[in-house]
Parts: sequence; C-alpha cells; structure tokens
Amino acid sequence: MPFSQTSNIYCVGRNYSGHIKELKSKTPENPIFFHKPLFSLNASDEIIIPNDREVEHEVEVVVLIKKDGLAKNENEAKDFIGGYTLGIDITDRKLQKNFKEKSTPWFLSKSFKGSAFVSKNIMDNLEDEFYLKINGEIKQLGKSSEMIFGIERLIVYLSKFVALKKGDLIFTGTPSGVGKLSKKNIVEIGFSKNKIAEKYLVV
Ligand code: ZN
Repeated sequence: MPFSQTSNIYCVGRNYSGHIKELKSKTPENPIFFHKPLFSLNASDEIIIPNDREVEHEVEVVVLIKKDGLAKNENEAKDFIGGYTLGIDITDRKLQKNFKEKSTPWFLSKSFKGSAFVSKNIMDNLEDEFYLKINGEIKQLGKSSEMIFGIERLIVYLSKFVALKKGDLIFTGTPSGVGKLSKKNIVEIGFSKNKIAEKYLVV
C-alpha cells in the first residue's frame, strides 16, 4: 500500500492560470496551501461521494514525499520527491464559494470522506500532459509545465512553515475544466503519453 505512511495531505490552490480565470480568482503572489485530513484519503478503485455532497472534480499531479525534513532550496527539494501520481481534489464548490465570499477558510468544502482521491500508479518521472475524462469525454487537460509555482518551488515554500514527513502527499493544483462529478460516472485519469488508462466508478 503506497500511502500507508502518509500523515499529511497538502494541497495547492490557484496554480494554473486557466483555473484561476474560470473561478474568477486572483493570481496569488505566493503559493496557497491548504490541508486535507487523513480520513479524506481514498486510494481505492472507487471514487466516493458522500450522499449529502454535490461535488466537482479537480484532477491534479500529486507528489509523494520520500523523506523527513526541510528543503532549503529547489535543488534540495528534488531529493524529497519520491514519485508522482495523479489525484482528484474533490470539492464541494457551492460551499467553497460561500466560504470565499465570507473570506473564511474553505477547509470544510474540501475535507470529507474520500475527498482526496489518489491513484496507486506512482511514476518516477513526471510526464507533462495529464487529463481527466468522464464517460469517455475529456473534461480536463493540463500540462504540469504550466504550473504557476513549480513542484520544487512548492516544496521549498511549504518547508518554510512545516517539516515534511516521509509519505506526505502534495496535490499541486488543478488546470481548467473543473465540473460536476456524479454517481455512476466512469472517471478516467491519466498522463497522455502513458498508455495505462485508469478508470474508476463514482459511487
Ligand atoms: Zn485542487
């Protein structure tokens, strides 16, 4: 089980300009980090939506941290990267909008059982283009090279505030195309050049 050592799930908001535009948000000066509780982690073969939630998908590159400590610069940050995978930051958008309007933390709109969906297919090297399809139709197509804050920079910035732990996950932000996720959807996430198609049923 690749995530048995995970104790923290860090997430980054507003890291792609297309997504910033679609939510009419502002480009941040520094990375925006938030955190999901461990019980939100779902590395199973099914995407879970709690009955009382109306949610949206945000496909994201997820970085697996392989050692404890602090990365002082981007070179050091490379040593912390234990692999890359894809995940879905499942978001209760209405609730998030509500919190944003009141300028209060959006924690509760991002933190519920199954809200941090992650693929067990961990790769050593990051491929650029990744996608999310619903019932065979492309909904999100992103390029990790288009992140506003690159992965090493995210790790250095996070290290200024918290000590990284082996097994931690960093969801690095979503490209444009977020939208509703419904029960019985067949969701496919993958890197475009990688021929392994991973399909999941939403339950
Ligand atoms: Zn996200």
